[in-house]
Amino acid sequence: MEHVFWFVVGSQSLYGEDVLVTVENRAKEMAEELSKHLPYPLVYKVTAKSNQEIADVVKEANYDDRCCGIITWCHTFSPSKMWINGLAALQKPYCHFATQYNREIPNEEIDMDFINLNQAAHGDREHGFIAARLRIPRKVIAGYWQDEAVWKRLRDWMCAAVGVAVSKKMKVMRFGDNMREVAVTEGDKVEVQIKLGWQVNTWAVGDLVKEMNLVTEDEIDALMKVYEEHYDIATDNIAAIRYQAREEIAIKRMMDREGCKAFTNTFQDLYGMEQLPGLASQHLMALGYGYGGEGDWKVSAMTAIMKAMGEGGNGASAFMEDYTYHLVKGQEYSLGAHMLEVCPSVAADRPRIETHHLGIGMNEKDPARLVFEGKAGKGIVVSLIDMGGRLRMIVQDIEAVKPIMPMPNLPVARVMWRAMPDLTTGVECWITAGGAHHTTLSYDVSAEMMRDFARMMDIEFVHITKDTTPEKLEEELFLKDLAWKLK
Ligand code: MN
Repeated sequence: MEHVFWFVVGSQSLYGEDVLVTVENRAKEMAEELSKHLPYPLVYKVTAKSNQEIADVVKEANYDDRCCGIITWCHTFSPSKMWINGLAALQKPYCHFATQYNREIPNEEIDMDFINLNQAAHGDREHGFIAARLRIPRKVIAGYWQDEAVWKRLRDWMCAAVGVAVSKKMKVMRFGDNMREVAVTEGDKVEVQIKLGWQVNTWAVGDLVKEMNLVTEDEIDALMKVYEEHYDIATDNIAAIRYQAREEIAIKRMMDREGCKAFTNTFQDLYGMEQLPGLASQHLMALGYGYGGEGDWKVSAMTAIMKAMGEGGNGASAFMEDYTYHLVKGQEYSLGAHMLEVCPSVAADRPRIETHHLGIGMNEKDPARLVFEGKAGKGIVVSLIDMGGRLRMIVQDIEAVKPIMPMPNLPVARVMWRAMPDLTTGVECWITAGGAHHTTLSYDVSAEMMRDFARMMDIEFVHITKDTTPEKLEEELFLKDLAWKLK
């Protein structure tokens, strides 16, 4: 599906036809120019001058599947009572771009005509009031439209809005239930469908096994070539890799048939399968599908959505789990990994395919998996939890490093990072907020993008940063709990 955004410019009829023609021409020029610097086209739609025009464009936006959001701006003054009916009906993400056509005030030329035409400073305030009065979730971005920093902010907002579009169509395929007795991976699937649009449903492991039996040797050969292209084969157990290819082809086929972009399974329900999908799940994630281990459908859907929000529509985001800590003074780090399934989009170097014994679960044979080190760099970890009656999204800023030791006997991919504000305070904050052991770790989706996503979806957002203290966080959580109960 092609994603586009609409540029809706506010004005009124007071200024005469000439001014409106100028506004329209400039708005078209700006949309075209901005589109060159943004990941998705910004399409000029209308210079709106009446209640009807605004209501009409909003109605059209609501029903156009390609339109992921509207960006509004007031070149001139646009009285905001005209916007009430339209904005009250708006169902798409909304960004108010407070900018101005001219960068400078022209000292000699400025007169009353100039002011009448170029009064965004004035018009955008009237426009901002009505969204505040209507309590409509929106993003306000202010700055000159030819500045790179402004393009970046518009770009990030667009990517968050694309995340919303992906979320509203998200279908998750579950094989088996959640891991027995685990609490944080549970949640209200009906509530999540109402709030986020996710359709989370189950399919029988037996049907997957049937599908695996239909996969041909030729199909496996073709996928083996893809594996060889992207990964180093560091095992003699080719049969194990071929078995993973069989699993991958079957899972992908079932997901594509049902329109699913994410899936879950559990090591406690592999009836009829020889290996827990490792390489299979990892390569599916590399293709942009979401995955969550132990039946964690929330992290699976979030991984698919955050991948879609990232670079090129399939960014460096991975299903992750906090495994163990390094608590040496001055070198405090979290070691993140999973039993098998870490997405190679976060790898520093070319991953290796290895096979090792996996004692947990119903594995009859040693599963093949990708082993690699995560790259260094700033990122975030994200957890979506069900608080009972509402969803809370927790985002923590992190700084990933090259793992400080080789860990030659660790048979899985690994990422090492320092959580903000520091390891132990960060852990205190994360645990206080109720964040899960499973997360989506991302290098190219920012906390601001996740805040935009949470605002658009009307869910609680908690951000743990370098400035967070447990005291402040505790108070924030207490107040938010009260506020969300009143909403
Ligand atoms: Mn896990």
